[in-house]
Amino acid sequence: MSECLFCKIVAGEVPSTKVYEDEYVYAFLDIDPKAPEHIIFVPKQHIGSANEISPDNSAVIAKIFEAISKVASEKGFADNGYRVVNNCGEDGGQTVGHIHFHLLAGRQLQWPPG
Ligand code: 5GP
Ligand code: ZN
Repeated sequence: MSECLFCKIVAGEVPSTKVYEDEYVYAFLDIDPKAPEHIIFVPKQHIGSANEISPDNSAVIAKIFEAISKVASEKGFADNGYRVVNNCGEDGGQTVGHIHFHLLAGRQLQWPPG
């Protein structure tokens, strides 16, 4: 069994509230939301971080952004706008070692981030 939390969530071994799923992508509600809408998008295959994106696996990153666009439209916040965040490594604030993209929406987000 994988020791990776998000691999376990994809496999259903750790429960999550699913928002979207296709052959390549799984999306679920963040357990500790930072905005009224906070959804985590992950590739079903394990990729540790943005540092591990390569020509061999980058197609799934495009699939994630297709899914983000679809979910934002279906949930009705595409027009108001949203933010997509990928934290990479220690300085980036990454706490789970399976690449993921935060979709944050539902309030005016500040810039620059902390
Ligand atoms: P990171 O800090 O690595 O960019 O983001 C990890 C995110 O995963 C955090 O926003 C955190 O709230 C979320 N998270 C951590 N553990 C769980 C969990 O068991 N279930 C869910 N749904 N989200 C989690
Ligand atoms: Zn994983």
